[in-house]
Amino acid sequence: MDILKSSLKDISAAIKSKKISATEAVEFYLKRAGLHNSKINAYITMNEHALAQAKEIDVKLSKGEDLSNKKLLGIPFGIKDMLCTKGIKTTAASKILENFVPPYDATVVSRIKSNGGIVLGKLNQDEFAMGSSNETSTHGLCRNPWDLERVPGGSSGGSAAAQAAGLAAATIGTDTGGSIRQPASYCGIVGVKPTYGRVSRYGIIAYASSLDQAGPMVNSVEDAALVLESICGFDEMDSTTSQRSDTQFSQNINKSIKGTKIGVLKEFFSDQLDMDVKKSLELAIDNLKKLGAEIVEVSIPLTAHAVPIYYLIAASEASSNLSRYDGVKYGYRYDFKDLSSVSLDSFYSKTRGHGFGSEVKRRIIMGTYCLSSGYYEAYYGKASQVRRLLKNQFSEVFKSCDALISPVSTTPAFKLGERIDDALAMYLNDIFTVSTNLVGIPGMSLPYSLSQKNLPIGVQLMCRDFDEQKMLNIAAALEETSPVRGAFPKGFV
Ligand code: GLN
Repeated sequence: MDILKSSLKDISAAIKSKKISATEAVEFYLKRAGLHNSKINAYITMNEHALAQAKEIDVKLSKGEDLSNKKLLGIPFGIKDMLCTKGIKTTAASKILENFVPPYDATVVSRIKSNGGIVLGKLNQDEFAMGSSNETSTHGLCRNPWDLERVPGGSSGGSAAAQAAGLAAATIGTDTGGSIRQPASYCGIVGVKPTYGRVSRYGIIAYASSLDQAGPMVNSVEDAALVLESICGFDEMDSTTSQRSDTQFSQNINKSIKGTKIGVLKEFFSDQLDMDVKKSLELAIDNLKKLGAEIVEVSIPLTAHAVPIYYLIAASEASSNLSRYDGVKYGYRYDFKDLSSVSLDSFYSKTRGHGFGSEVKRRIIMGTYCLSSGYYEAYYGKASQVRRLLKNQFSEVFKSCDALISPVSTTPAFKLGERIDDALAMYLNDIFTVSTNLVGIPGMSLPYSLSQKNLPIGVQLMCRDFDEQKMLNIAAALEETSPVRGAFPKGFV
């Protein structure tokens, strides 16, 4: 069996029927990681027990134990370092958490495990998921397997790079403003940001709590549906999770999209788009029409303000969430020679000053300012009001269409170093992705083209709250028309 090209369902079925063993599946990806990881720096910590866990599955199977209901049996996963993994270092790619070993699993991770999945290792990312290029990691930058001189995108750059290079069967990322979709687009894989509340945030290191969601980063729409249905659903540890039971996404994929109304957002289809990105989107729209979908032009004027609203809200929430890293209870503490002579102020400022990187500090300073008395209403308060209006405009548009299609990013993957010193250029990169987080709806990136420079380009689909099934249906239909289906970066075959 060609594990690399097989669907998760097929790999799992082959393990269940003992055509291959879980051990073989894990060995296969460990070998690939050993061979290729040094080129891209996607994995930052490996799970030393992965092989033993695979063997446990094989022993159970050989004893005839019934594991048929385990949807992800023996599937080797790479997990973004934002998700707590019991007994495995979890750093959020920050020095301030360099030695943090969580005593518990994030719900996403425990659900992967209870469905038979195996954690292979932890994946690189931007520090605290703040960034769009994976260049702010304390573990060093991560490279794009399609062009090693380019960024994999961010913040889930390690997840996207590992998946694209075939170093895991599936990976998990988190998305606060595009961090699953943009790297998925840059690396040519499928990435899904679920509706806010679809997936539990318990055990995910908090960046901006009203925006954060975790989701699958995988090879195909079918794989995305399978992983999403395995990790989603109500969790008593996260009061924002939904009780909805419409979660059997993979069984219910229906590729007939005749009559589906798909809106093209006027504001996202501007002349400033890179030519290759524009062509890719036009091709996808043409193919949707051929599949019988009805394309309508729609307008959401407030998306013009989405980037500033997002950065005000995300930085404000981050400044509050990151105040817990004080060097007292856990995490990095500055190496004071004599603690008894250190003032409280100096204890905090030395620890936080050395523990956080500069982008994280920029956000903390910006967010603290936005929340400070006298400015709260003008910044955080105003941003929250416009966020509500943006939600209203999206709801209005969804009265006349079932889904939206747009680019994921203005360009394909950019060069390493190109934007890291220009915060504004980096922030503007998120122009097409932040709105879905602000309004809570699901969004995904589907690989659709290769640029003239042979770089992947994804298209973005968005649907109403909790309409993941429809979004996956459209994506599954569109995927079949994608000229780059199954494309693989040279050098990683
Ligand atoms: N690039 C955005 C930011 O830096 C999005 C990050 C994310 O989704 N985690 O905030």
